Amino acid sequence: MDKVDKGMAFLEFQGIVQSFGKVKAVDDVSLGIKQGEVFSLLGPSGCGKTTLLRICAGFQRPQSGRVILNGQDITDLPPEKRKVNTVFQNYALFPNLNVYDNIAFGLRILRRPEVEIRREVDRMLDLADMAEHAHKRVNEISGGQKQRVAIARALVNKPQVLLLDEPLAALDLKLRQRMLVELDSIHDEVGITFVYVTHDQGEAMSISDTIAVMNKGKVEQIGSPAEIYEAPRSSFVAAFIGDTNFFDGHVTWVKGEYSQISIEDFGDVLVFNDKNVRLGGAVHLSLRPEKLLISSEKPAEKENVNLFKGVVEEVVYLGSHTKYWVRVGEYRLAVIRQHRRFLLDEKPISWQDEVWLEWHADDGFMLERYSEADEALLVLPDYEDEEETEESVETPAEETAPAGEDA
Ligand code: ATP
Repeated sequence: MDKVDKGMAFLEFQGIVQSFGKVKAVDDVSLGIKQGEVFSLLGPSGCGKTTLLRICAGFQRPQSGRVILNGQDITDLPPEKRKVNTVFQNYALFPNLNVYDNIAFGLRILRRPEVEIRREVDRMLDLADMAEHAHKRVNEISGGQKQRVAIARALVNKPQVLLLDEPLAALDLKLRQRMLVELDSIHDEVGITFVYVTHDQGEAMSISDTIAVMNKGKVEQIGSPAEIYEAPRSSFVAAFIGDTNFFDGHVTWVKGEYSQISIEDFGDVLVFNDKNVRLGGAVHLSLRPEKLLISSEKPAEKENVNLFKGVVEEVVYLGSHTKYWVRVGEYRLAVIRQHRRFLLDEKPISWQDEVWLEWHADDGFMLERYSEADEALLVLPDYEDEEETEESVETPAEETAPAGEDA
């Protein structure tokens, strides 16, 4: 929240609270959105992002808190009196109207003169690259084209803010990627504020100037995509945005910019002091898989670089890169190796190989908040070891349970 410059906020949520029965859908959210930026509300299903968007659109009145747009308190205004339009996931186009009339609809409701309607709809048809489809019915155009019409229809009466509620969720992956680029260029052209709701971190990272990561009705962190990824404050943000390794230790010495963290069942790790560290204090560390360098040969020791020996327990080749899980002590580390000349000169690293892992002390990031439950967000290979499997097979009480239920 400290990231937001309140003085520059164009759209502001102040202490928004919204419960449904016992569920606190939005739990005291305050944030500011700058004029002209693409601001994403990102979080898992049920974290409250749509509720916040609906409150902004005026479809939901908050139990407490205010919404301020361009200095005006709009909390009590009905949706049609707000200079805010919404693009819905299911497009919500009128099936009995053609593309042109769908886009013109909002202006006709406002009884604008026909010449103005023609001018503005033509402008939107160009913007959405739909001019040649203007007279097609909605069921004669593709999903991506429907989405572009929905955006054009929402922009035609020049709102100050465009709200986009999971706008690409109904499209396939390739089309989603293309629409993201198109949305970005539409945003560049119209220059208005976009508030984008998504549970897809890749989408949020690629389109946003600023992201608010939400969890259980609260904002966990606000920042640029790079800040959110490189410097997550909580284990939730670290695990929800991308992949990571968590370590749990305590400070054994502090020297200048670096400290040593002793990690039980792993070893001593050198870390950059990016939080207020004190001798003996607990530290939770997040280390992204691509920060680790994996090699078969022992690399030369370098200053401020951690070096560990491990054994490869899992290898997943993914084309542009390979993902490994490497056992070091009681930990299993996710490691990503980017490929350049894979077939020509990269020595393959295989299952059960002994390997060396190195990473710079600056690349581990100390978390302010840690919850064990967030580890469940990480994708891990099966952890069950052979001993446990044998035991569970021998347990007679398991007889009536379906096979693998406890896996
Ligand atoms: P999704 O991505 O699944 O849409 P979301 O992050 O947008 O999730 P919301 O739709 O804002 O989440 O819902 C937040 C919580 O509030 C959820 O637990 C949801 O079930 C509940 N909720 C939302 N709207 C209502 C409603 N009208 N009545 C009852 N509960 C609601």
